[in-house]
Formats: sequence, C-alpha cells, structure tokens
Amino acid sequence: MLESDGLDRWGPREQANIPSSLSELAEYAMRMGLAGLGGAGFPTGLKLGGAGTPDLLLINGAECEPFLTCDDRLMRERAADVIQAADYLAKLSGVSNTFIGVESNKPEAIRSLRQATAAAGSSVKIRTLPARYPAGGQPMLVRALSGRRLRPGQLPAEIGVQVLNVASLYALGRAVFHGEPLISRVVTLTGRCKHPGNYEVPLGYPVNLLRKIAEPDSDARDIHVGGPMMGRKLEEIDAVTGKTSSCLIFGANRLWPAKGDESDCIRCNRCVDACPMALQPMSLLEAARSRNQHDLKQLRLDACIECGACSQVCPSNLPLRDSFRAIKKEALICRTG
Ligand code: SF4
Ligand code: SF4
Repeated sequence: MLESDGLDRWGPREQANIPSSLSELAEYAMRMGLAGLGGAGFPTGLKLGGAGTPDLLLINGAECEPFLTCDDRLMRERAADVIQAADYLAKLSGVSNTFIGVESNKPEAIRSLRQATAAAGSSVKIRTLPARYPAGGQPMLVRALSGRRLRPGQLPAEIGVQVLNVASLYALGRAVFHGEPLISRVVTLTGRCKHPGNYEVPLGYPVNLLRKIAEPDSDARDIHVGGPMMGRKLEEIDAVTGKTSSCLIFGANRLWPAKGDESDCIRCNRCVDACPMALQPMSLLEAARSRNQHDLKQLRLDACIECGACSQVCPSNLPLRDSFRAIKKEALICRTG
C-alpha cells in the first residue's frame, strides 16, 4: 500500500535523458503520460509517432472560449519553457518553420513569448490571431497560420503540419528537460466565486476541494467544466480533475441564460452563417434525428468540430451541436462495439 509522506514535493526524478529522435520522443512521451491538454486529451506520444515528416510546427495558443485563461497565464509566466520546448521539438522534427498562434486579446502573452524568443535566439515566430471564436479550432488554426486547408477527416500530418496545444508543449518540455511526468495542469477557477484564478492542480484532485479554494457565492452551487461553448455541466458529485480539466466555472446557471423551450426550425439560416466549417446545421439536425447515414455523410458531419456556434445563435433553441456530438459518439460505439 502507498503511504503519503505528506510533503507534497518531487522525489528523485528520471535523469534528464533527452530523446534524440522523434520515435524516441514518442515512446518517452507515452511513458511520461503526456496528452493533449487543449481539449481532446489525445496521447502526445501517438501524435508524435504518427507525425510523418512535417515541414511546419504549429503551436496552438489560441484560447478562444470566454472564461478560460489557463493557457494565457502559462504563456505569460512560463514563456521561456514554452520556447525551449518549441525549439527542441522543431529541431527533432526537422521542420523549417514554427509558429505559435495567440489571439490578439492576449497582449501580455504575446509580449512574453516574443521576449523569450529574443532571449533564446529562437527562430520561433509568434503570430497574432483575431480574437474570434473558434480561432483555436484545428482547421481554423492551420489555415490561419499556414494557409493550408484540412479536408474533413484529414489529419494535419497528412498536409505536412504538426499541431500541439501550448500547454501540451510545455508539459513535453518539463518531461524532456526536467524528467517530470504529467501529474498536474493549470486549471482556471472562475465564475461567481471569491477567489478566481489559475491554479496548478494535481491530476485526480477532488473538485470539491477546488470548490473550497474558490469559495463560490452561496447561490452558485452548480459547476460547469470547460468553456461555455464546448464544456458541460458537471453532474458527478465526486468528480476529480483530469488532463483535460481546463476550467471550472461556478454558478454558470446565472452567468449565461438557460435555453428556452425548443421550437420548430424557422429556416432563418443563422446557423449556416455562424458555422466556421461552412456546414448546414439545420439539415444535419434532420439527418441526425432520422439517423440517415447517407445524408449525414453527404452533409459532412465528419467536418463538424462541435464548436456549438450554431446552437448559440439558433432562435428556436434547437440542440444542434449536442445532437451532432451524440450521433458521432453513437457511430463510434457502433464501430468499436
Ligand atoms: S457545432 Fe455547429 S457551427 Fe460548429 S462546426 Fe458543427 S455544425 Fe458548424
Ligand atoms: S438557426 Fe435554428 S431556426 Fe434558424 S435555420 Fe438554423 S436550426 Fe433552423
């Protein structure tokens, strides 16, 4: 049985044994438990192992959902580590160009990264992106930084691009240069609480203890995990933080209005105008409700990035994004079950 010494400090860490090839790094990343911290939690080792021969490395620092500030703080305060990791990965991957995309509403992060780049004599370029949701969506980011287009279902590696979230890159640097496995992440505590802020939180930390730290207002008992657009209401009372727990919003019920009752589609086309992937959400919804696989394919359900922009603008309160998410999950279960 493991017994804690209660000291909350690092024991002996793995000697810095810096991998000298991408395949070695991929294996090492798997061993250190590194994963995408930007949302999907995809294992970094698998991503690096399947990278092919990219000529471009893109770092996603576009934290585009409101309320989230964990990546912003990381870029402001740990810019030197981010740049060191970017230079290392670029060299190992043999890429000719590395860009970090940061939205224009994060001037301090942009300044810190540029200073760190200059101090390190790095060739990493910091690019400013428009602060418009969903600038951090992979297809948008790739297009904005490289001019290349991702087709639905296509991986960035297939068009010569390697993409990593900035927090995932930072974790990779900590593993490579300091021998630290991924055991914590920065979590934004925000909403209607007395102590909002960004906290470095161990993975597996009880949400109830974070609630005590944040001290929500007495009428802010509900918790939303993730951003308002892509996150979800936390239902589990014994939840703990994980690799993708970027943000906890206390009292979300009062921060943005609850959706009213659903009504029929009025063909206003607002969802079409809002969709960053140029899809037809109202037609996709019909196909999802009737489980018409042929139409779902024709209408390119696979291109939906589940950003929720369509649901947000729909005057009939139709559950567009949730339906697309559910039908994709169903298809996945059918494929793997
Ligand atoms: S969630 Fe809606 S707006 Fe976003 S990509 Fe999918 S269909 Fe388009
Ligand atoms: S926004 Fe809503 S009501 Fe308007 S066309 Fe799209 S689904 Fe229909």
